[in-house]
Amino acid sequence: MSKLGNETAKAELGRATWKLLHTMTLRFPEHPTSDEREALGSFMYLTSRLYPCGECASEFQELLKKFPPQTSNRRSASLWLCSMHNEVNIRLGKPVFDCAKLDETYDCGCGDSPISSTATANYET
Ligand code: FAD
Repeated sequence: MSKLGNETAKAELGRATWKLLHTMTLRFPEHPTSDEREALGSFMYLTSRLYPCGECASEFQELLKKFPPQTSNRRSASLWLCSMHNEVNIRLGKPVFDCAKLDETYDCGCGDSPISSTATANYET
């Protein structure tokens, strides 16, 4: 793949990932259980370990060391992620996003139904 092709693929992966992460935090419960809080924190740490772009993954790991995930409620989680994305934006020379615009920017298309919090992980090796 050409250098341009690689960069385009990396940018597409980044856009898709940010969209998932932002819509997830904006749907995070207003009053999460400790299990939900742990799930969100783990999701962020696991994303930073498994993210397919290695350079992005290690930069995200460094950010998480400096700014651990905020999971006490939806607002703190979504603002925390917005500021993480802005840290990446600054490093890449992109404009800083106004976090007051999160709600108008992201719509998961899933109505008002709450996320299910009853599922437990069941891994097979
Ligand atoms: P993106 O940054 O992908 O943003 C997509 C859209 O989100 C924007 O158009 C805007 O509407 C909105 N947005 C922008 N900022 C915010 C914000 N703060 N909060 C909420 N919404 C916002 N690329 C690299 O080249 N090097 C890296 O080290 C790197 N690290 C990354 C780490 C992570 C965890 C992720 C998910 C991606 C990383 N990327 C990295 C990809 C990079 O961040 C961009 O996704 C990619 O360059 C495409 O940029 P873009 O200008 O299309 O907008």
